Order: sequence, then C-alpha cells, then structure tokens
Amino acid sequence: MDSNTQSEKTRVVIAGGGTAGWLTAAALAKKLGPLVDITLVESSDISTIGVGEATIPPLRVFHQLLGINEAEFMRATSATFKLGIQFTDFGDKQTEYIHSFGQTGQSGWLAEFFHFWREAHERGIPGEYGEYCLELEAAKANKFFTSTQNSPLNYAYHLDAGAYAAYLKKLAVNSGITHIVDNIDAVNCAPSGDIYALLLRQHGLLTGDLFIDCTGFKALLIGEALNTGYEDWSHWLFCNRALAVQTELAPPLKPYTVASAHEAGWRWEIPLQHRMGNGFVYSSQFLTDEQAELQFQKTLNSAPLQTIRRIEFKTGRRDHAWQNNCVAIGLSAGFVEPMESTSIHLIVTGITRLMQLFPYRGDATRLRNEYNNQTRAEIEKIRDFIILHYHVTERDDSEFWKMCKKMNIPDSLAERIELFKEHGHAFQKNGELFRVDSWTQVMLGQGILPGSWHPAAKMMSSGQLSAAMEKGKQEIKQRVAQLPGHEAFVSQYCASVKH
Ligand code: FAD
Repeated sequence: MDSNTQSEKTRVVIAGGGTAGWLTAAALAKKLGPLVDITLVESSDISTIGVGEATIPPLRVFHQLLGINEAEFMRATSATFKLGIQFTDFGDKQTEYIHSFGQTGQSGWLAEFFHFWREAHERGIPGEYGEYCLELEAAKANKFFTSTQNSPLNYAYHLDAGAYAAYLKKLAVNSGITHIVDNIDAVNCAPSGDIYALLLRQHGLLTGDLFIDCTGFKALLIGEALNTGYEDWSHWLFCNRALAVQTELAPPLKPYTVASAHEAGWRWEIPLQHRMGNGFVYSSQFLTDEQAELQFQKTLNSAPLQTIRRIEFKTGRRDHAWQNNCVAIGLSAGFVEPMESTSIHLIVTGITRLMQLFPYRGDATRLRNEYNNQTRAEIEKIRDFIILHYHVTERDDSEFWKMCKKMNIPDSLAERIELFKEHGHAFQKNGELFRVDSWTQVMLGQGILPGSWHPAAKMMSSGQLSAAMEKGKQEIKQRVAQLPGHEAFVSQYCASVKH
C-alpha cells in the first residue's frame, strides 16, 4: 500500500444497525478495509425490525467470505439447520409439500430428472417426486449432518435475529469501523443532489463520500431525502401486515421452516435452539387486525414469551437501489415478502454487488446503472417465484384465495407456468436465485401436473425405468438412515448457552 492510500480512502457512512447495516459494515471492513473508512450510526431509540430468522444456503458462502466460524456463529445465535420449507394448505386445503434446498434425482444432459419421474408416474411406477431428494427426505425424518470436511446436505440456518445483529456488530467493530449511537435528525444534500452529511442529534454533522441506507422501511436517505420512488407490487402480493411473536420451544426440533396457508395469507414457524419464532402474514383487505390476532393466537403451538407485535409493510422495490451517492441495502431497497426467506439473501447480494462495482474514484454513473439493472432483474425473478405460491392454487374457500387465483400475473411468470404445464420444463435464468429444482418442486407441489414431457424416458422399457427409479429411492433411504437426528446433531455441534 503506498503512503497516499490513507488520504484517499472512501468515507463510507452506513445509516442503520439492523441485519443490513451490520452485514454491510462487516463485509466492507473485511474485504475492502484499506480502501474505506467506515462509520455506522444507529439509534438506540428506534428498534430494528426484529424478524428475519430464516435464511437460504448462499448465506453460508458469504459467511465463509467473512471468515465466520460456523459452530461459533450458531452458538451465538441459537441457530438450527434448515433444509427447506414445508408448505401446508397452499395448493389446496389438506395438501402439503416441501420445497427443499436439495437436488432431486439424477438429471441427464438431454432432460431433467423430472421428465423421467413424470414418465414413471404415467406408467404407474410408484414414488413421490420428493422421495428422490436427500435433503427433502432428511427434513421429513428430522435428520441432519454436516462437517467442515464433508457436507452431504445443502442447507441454511434458522437464527435469532437480535443475536445475529449483535454477532455481526462485534465482527464489524473488531474489524476497525467507527460505531456511533445517535439519531439521524436530517439528511443534508448538496445542489448536485448528492448527500454530503447526516445531521446527528448529539454528534452534529457526519460527512461522507458514499452513504448506505440501512434504515429499514423508513428509508430515511434513499426515500425521504432523495425522493427515490417505490414500485408497489401489492396488486400481485396482497399481504401487507404481519404479526410476530416468540414462543416456547415446540419439539421436535425440525430442520425446516413451516409455512401454513390460512384464509387470507399464511403463517410461519421457525425453530431455534431455545424458542420458536412465529409469524402470521395477512392482507388487511381481507382480515382485520383483530381477526388476524385471534386466529394467530389459536394456531400457536406453544406458550408466548412476549406480546404479539404488528408490522406493516408494502411489497415492492425501490426504483433505483443506488441513487446519487446513496445505496439502499435491506428493507430500504424493497421487500418481496418473507415466504421464501429471500430478504437477508438480497442484503448479501446487494453488498457483494456493491463491493464488485465499488465507486472508488471518478464518475460513478455507469457503475450505478449496472448495479441498478442487476438489482432489478434479481428481485423481479424472486417476486415471480413468490407470486407463484399464491396464484397456482385450487383454493376457493375465501375471497383472498379466489383473488389470488384470478389476478393477472406478470407475463414473465405466466410464460413459465404455461411452459411447465404444457411440456414439464422449468428453467433457471442467468443470475437467477431459484434453481430448476425449486421451480419444479413448487409448481408440482402447488398442483400442476404437466400434460406432456420430454420423450427421453419413453426410450426406456418399464422394467428399466422401474429399476432405475427404485435404485434412486433406495439410495436416498439408506443415506437418510445413516444421518443423526437434527436435535442430537445441534447439541453436539453448536449448542448455545441458552440451550
Ligand atoms: P431494520 O432491522 O429495521 O433496521 C433499521 C436500522 O435503522 C435500526 O438500527 C434503526 O435503529 C436504524 N434507524 C432507523 N431510523 C433511524 C434514525 N432516525 N437514526 C438512526 N438510526 C435509525 N428476511 C429473511 O431473510 N428471512 C425471513 O424469515 C424474514 N422474515 C421477515 C418477516 C417479516 C414480517 C418482515 C417484515 C421481514 C422479514 N425478513 C426476513 C426481512 C428481514 O427482517 C430484513 O431484511 C432484515 O432484518 C434487515 O432489516 P434492515 O436492517 O434493513 O432494517
């Protein structure tokens, strides 16, 4: 490093100390340390959102990038393992499927495994699609295993949101960032439209070169100060409220999230080592707050540890996640809805993208445009995947589900559904989060059985096909039988102090 580097550091100001703020601070400090001078300001009067406890597998890669020790992180956050999400009553009442993180069957270059399964199903060869997926069968059996040398399963975590922010805070502060606890009272902009300082109640002006808005739904910088618009998706995603409460542990310790549909939305159950996280997501157009709370209370499987909290949200995305010299990361940038646990993932990809397109010197216009284009493409594909869970349903027992079924959906999603319905093809587009297996599991799980499929399997005799399918199923069964129980594994691998 030459002697000038010190004076040429980019002054990065992070507003907000929730999961978004602390993940951003930790990552920038660890990975761009010598190039940046980071200050994070958070209020002690304004609490973090306090939910966001289910994650998806790419978080593991990000943790590795930050040098996080898995067992230590899990102990600190009372985390458990997650192999997928069980969806109950979505496709229709009394139906159930698991969207797991695993790969189902062996695919060939010509056709995905699904097409072979569909042919076998047509010929009456027994076997549910999920029986060919290790993660799915392990989830159903409450089994789990990983090690630093060998991780046979693709997995993520359930974690305590408050403890996670505290863990990341320690990591970031140890990496040398400046931490200020104060309230942001105003955001001061230059005539160019760029932010030049935050006005803090106790500490006065905090100047910077690049400002990261991690103030959650308030979006103090990108929304309030810079007036960046918000594209509203509530005509596709009707839910706009959630109730959340922590309850006592309800055994067994499941290695998956439970999502159960109700008459005007759905509810979640997230198992941690020391308690459950529960939520009730609903549309205020179809259910009053009082009705929602009553229904929520009735469905809780264990005793509450606190009073129920209500959170209001609007699904959609910020028109430009990066505007002038301000980048929105976290809820300030948009919110799809918690159904597939994609918010923390979007924080991680936002941070990664920012590090890759970091505006170190000169005009940032092209960097900004690229960042915004990539961000938009990514979140729109996630949005389509979430809409799928509502739209493809046989439920007609409430106005909410009738509306979901008959609403106009984005063309991009309509095309995908028709392609699967007619020909059994699912695909993962460039830069898209959800894989072919995810689209297939959910479309099948929601009740679509394609009318035709790739002819590859037609070249096999029934005997050959039946033997191949049986072999695949037995291999999964044997591997599941050898795995330890989830609870036992958590206890020996990463038991938290509170456990
Ligand atoms: P917040 O947690 O709201 O933090 C905002 C920060 O800004 C706080 O530190 C606050 O003090 C600070 N702040 C605000 N105003 C000021 C001010 N004037 N001065 C100083 N500081 C200020 N995501 C998942 O990945 N998985 C899930 O299962 C999941 N479930 C969810 C369920 C619901 C109902 C909701 C609404 C969200 C869920 N999310 C989930 C999203 C997840 O909670 C968020 O993405 C994550 O917590 C990040 O939030 P944040 O840091 O952007 O905002």
